[in-house]
Amino acid sequence: LDYRGISEDVVYKSHNAFNRKAVMPVGAIQSIERLYREKKELSNALNAKRHAQSLIGDRIRMAAQNPDAKITAREEAKSLKNDVVELEHKLGEVDDELLRLALSVPNDTHPLTPLGPESAAVTLSTHGPAPLPSSPSRDHVSVSHALGLLDLESAATVTGSSWYYLLNEAALLEMALTNYGLSIAIEHGFTPVTTPDVVRSDIAKRCGFQPRDHAVDPPVAQMYHLSGSPEPTSPSSHPELVLAGTAEIPLAGMFANKVFSAQELPRKVAGLGRAFRAEAGARGADTRGLYRVHQFTKLELFVVSEADKSEELMEEMRRIQIRIFEGLGFPFRVLDMPTEELGASAYRKYDMEAWMPGRGSWGEISSTSNCTDFQARRLHIRYRPSTALPASATAQSTQHALPFAHTLNGTAVAVPRLIVALLENGARFNDASDVVGLDLPSVLKQFWLGGD
Ligand code: AMP
Repeated sequence: LDYRGISEDVVYKSHNAFNRKAVMPVGAIQSIERLYREKKELSNALNAKRHAQSLIGDRIRMAAQNPDAKITAREEAKSLKNDVVELEHKLGEVDDELLRLALSVPNDTHPLTPLGPESAAVTLSTHGPAPLPSSPSRDHVSVSHALGLLDLESAATVTGSSWYYLLNEAALLEMALTNYGLSIAIEHGFTPVTTPDVVRSDIAKRCGFQPRDHAVDPPVAQMYHLSGSPEPTSPSSHPELVLAGTAEIPLAGMFANKVFSAQELPRKVAGLGRAFRAEAGARGADTRGLYRVHQFTKLELFVVSEADKSEELMEEMRRIQIRIFEGLGFPFRVLDMPTEELGASAYRKYDMEAWMPGRGSWGEISSTSNCTDFQARRLHIRYRPSTALPASATAQSTQHALPFAHTLNGTAVAVPRLIVALLENGARFNDASDVVGLDLPSVLKQFWLGGD
């Protein structure tokens, strides 16, 4: 992690963490500055002792004819060895503490990001038709019951609350929506990928996800942990596994430890996976129907870019998402999310919200983050810049100096929220105000498997 960057910018980093309401150990940034100084002093002292050790062998050999000098040199060698062991131990402790503290430091923040809580979000644009008036009869649960699209009762028996079965057109909508989103992503140069939904918890943490949300009291579990795997013989033989909360995690992990040439970037992938959210409903909000559930299918856009290209790529992702949602025919808006909504990893975040007349509110349907080098540092994703490196750079020093890439992620299709928006905006009523059908966007026709 960038200990030097943090130590040289204590005032900004502290303000930034405060503005983002980051959950961190008290005084973490100041401690990092102190420990980084200590680390440098310990490293210098250790190098000096190692250098002295490298010379003492010669002195012992040269003192072969002089027993007293030989004894003195041997004693010195012993004392040097003890010093080295002690310094290595101290350095190890400082390194561990530095890492623990620096892992809690959030990403920097884009200068244009609004300051404050969710209510401080700035609307960047609005799209689609004029919003329909709020109407409880458009509520997606009532509409889906009238049209036989959703079975929450059986899901409650089989799994629990906030789980669901999609039926009939709703099941077909899942396929149509993901294929529709994929078709647009592919047109924009994204490689289609299906992802593993089970990931090592270490990879999730490196992407900035914590097993528990400590921002609420008491902390709420965010991820499902898989238990029952055989007793680990070593951490690497049976790593701790979790269900991925988003395909962003396996997609980012796919690039771990890779070094790209500048010509190979940007790498753009569209990953189709299931997202598992343990915390859904834990705070009692939005527990009705499909809005906040424990499992959903999601198509996620993920990009690895050169450091100076990520802002441009974020705008490209925004344009792609606008195209996807405009095709679906409901009103939606794009928000520049404020500091307290950025989580640990985002430098900037755009959310999109659809108008949901049955709920009588705007509801989030997508979220796009530029994580700059936050995830790439933790996953070790680097690239060789196109500008020539200085002739003096050795192979080893070049390897070391390679810049970290930037990573971006954004929702193309989060199925349940899109179904909510489509049902609430598209429900058709007869004169007696009964729901009699659904007007679906024509753009889904070519991906529809169920005939007319
Ligand atoms: P996030 O990864 O939390 O930013 O979520 C990405 C998108 O997934 C959101 O914009 C929502 O459309 C959708 N989403 C997030 N959480 C849930 C949930 N618990 N149930 C249904 N959809 C969700």
